[in-house]
Amino acid sequence: MKKRKVSVLGSTGSIGRQTLDVLSAFKEDFEVVGLAAGSNVQLLIEQIKEHKPRFVSVKDTELAQELKSTLSDHSIEIFCNDVGLEFISSSACDIVVNGLVGSMGLKPTISALSHGKRVAFANKETLVVAGGLIKNLLKRNKGEIIPLDSEHVAIHQCISGARESEIKRIILTASGGPFRTWKEQDIQKATKEEALKHPTWVMGPKITIDSATLMNKGLEIIEAMVLFELPVGKIDVFIHPQSIVHSAVEFVDGNIIAQLGATDMRLPVQYSLFYPQRRELPFNLFCDLLSVGKLEFEAPDFNKFPCLKLAYHAAKEGKSYPIVLNAANEIAVDMFLKEEIKFGDIPKIISSTMENHKPSEPSSLDEITELDARIRREVSERAKTSKI
Ligand code: MG
Repeated sequence: MKKRKVSVLGSTGSIGRQTLDVLSAFKEDFEVVGLAAGSNVQLLIEQIKEHKPRFVSVKDTELAQELKSTLSDHSIEIFCNDVGLEFISSSACDIVVNGLVGSMGLKPTISALSHGKRVAFANKETLVVAGGLIKNLLKRNKGEIIPLDSEHVAIHQCISGARESEIKRIILTASGGPFRTWKEQDIQKATKEEALKHPTWVMGPKITIDSATLMNKGLEIIEAMVLFELPVGKIDVFIHPQSIVHSAVEFVDGNIIAQLGATDMRLPVQYSLFYPQRRELPFNLFCDLLSVGKLEFEAPDFNKFPCLKLAYHAAKEGKSYPIVLNAANEIAVDMFLKEEIKFGDIPKIISSTMENHKPSEPSSLDEITELDARIRREVSERAKTSKI
């Protein structure tokens, strides 16, 4: 069989590294043609030496120069910034793995889908800010999105072509993060180190903080609405501390189909790259249910995790609210990671931004990016003058 050509956006991040692990194990099936990274040039150079892509992109011209001088004896084309991301997404590849973090993944996604690519999709923020736009693109072009987020990979497998009228609800599971058993007042004061200690998954810093606030699950609600064309009323969140059931679909006839597996992103990555085929797992990651022993489920506590409530609110209100939710969250998480605000300030910043927002219905890419940038400026300014 002809090798399929793959480009990996965000190659030095958590998803990118795990994707390259899977691609290394299936060298007969895939060829890496493009890699895009931010500023971790050292790791990118190692990846280039191993995977020999034709195109790479980094964050800015300075880093691109640095890369050019280090790799002068390699035949490789080097790009930078948004232009590089867009070029790599539309280059001569069959699959684009979008492991970017935040709404910076929007333009390359549009570029890949417009060129009819399969996008293996871990960049949930893009679906949150531009769900309508992406759905229209999918209808107009030959491109397709295969989820890569573990919950959505689970639903993708369980839903198996069912019509909306046959689905009672989908159950998105959440580990509950590091603060599941903490008291509300202690969560408010949690430190960066405490928030970065995820109990079951190893992930990048932004998504780990989102998992601690449960905003990650909130964004996944909106992501599921777009991917599976379901109303928010058919999406429930269950806390499931073992993280073995990755999500489930309950049908109107009372049957519930759940997907179970190890907590390792290489499983959803492999599924997404090979779909609709299944291939033998090359890693020792089979899930031993006997050693797991028991599976527990509980309802989420919206008072302890107000970010989940805010995300449900944005999902119900629709219009520009998901963009505002996402932009305010990205700025607030960034400030928390720089230790400029407290953990308890994250939902406060998002909530006050949503309250001050006059909803609109941005539909073009320009309108979306403009609103996204305006919200980010407003949030940063208000936080600086401590009007949180
Ligand atoms: Mg997930």
